[in-house]
Amino acid sequence: MNNSAYIGRFAPTPSGYLHFGSLVAALASYLDARAVGGRWLVRMEDLDPPREMPGAQTAIMASLESYGFEWDDELVRQSERHEHYEHVLQQLFSQGLAYACTCSRKQLEAYNGIYPGFCRNLGKPLDNAAIRVRVPELIYDFTDRVQGEFRQHLGQEVGDMVIRRRDGLYAYQLAVVLDDAWQGITDVVRGADLLDSTPRQLYLQELLGLAQPRYLHLPLIVQPDGHKLGKSYRSPPLKAEQATAQLLRALRALGQATPADAADSRPQELLKWATQHWDSNLIPRKLTLAEAELP
Ligand code: GLU
Ligand code: ZN
Repeated sequence: MNNSAYIGRFAPTPSGYLHFGSLVAALASYLDARAVGGRWLVRMEDLDPPREMPGAQTAIMASLESYGFEWDDELVRQSERHEHYEHVLQQLFSQGLAYACTCSRKQLEAYNGIYPGFCRNLGKPLDNAAIRVRVPELIYDFTDRVQGEFRQHLGQEVGDMVIRRRDGLYAYQLAVVLDDAWQGITDVVRGADLLDSTPRQLYLQELLGLAQPRYLHLPLIVQPDGHKLGKSYRSPPLKAEQATAQLLRALRALGQATPADAADSRPQELLKWATQHWDSNLIPRKLTLAEAELP
């Protein structure tokens, strides 16, 4: 099958080096795109300078290269897209779909992260305030290609969501939706930690009249003790000299076949083979790494 209409992406956050979990996401998004002759883009999600690790952007791109990945187009950085985010935010605000909120963290402490709506109808000015989008009292659901049906009641489980923080930083939810649409992304392949962000993104897409991509959320990789690999557990950065070995490990984690005599092949050759043999139906919903598989 050749489907040049497919556009996929890998969207790393430069808060650290690429680790095994992010390699799995890069690999799956890459193979899913290339297997149908599609395009694959890389977008640097550098929305949060205080949490950015100096040198991470360069290191991430160098890792992708040494692991044999080739991307289409120029790298896009979210730090270069602020004007666009601001434009849409102002639009939502002037239409009354978003409003300014000056609640302190302390005031919201008792509400488990679900905004109780204190500022909803106060008409506060934009400046020096967080900006929230009103969410409807509705269930949003979708069918994920791996995780199956997923549903969330936005009003009860999320509440009015922040799209720009009080310190002026744009929220991931807004940026990701605008950039996926702007880049014409047809298929989002990413880690299952973002499964419960997806209904929010579907809602924003609907609100802004944007096309909705298909979604494939990869299994969360959990350690034998049940801890998630990656965020709480600091997995080590990927080493260039382990490219083939780590790619093989990532392919196995994704339930894919591996070539019989691959240990000595170059990463580019392995990626080519894996593209020809890619089968997204083999991806497991959940994945526990055996002790021996841990880095
Ligand atoms: N930047 C996000 C992350 O590194 C991924 C965003 C996405 O794929 O939608 O976790
Ligand atoms: Zn408020």
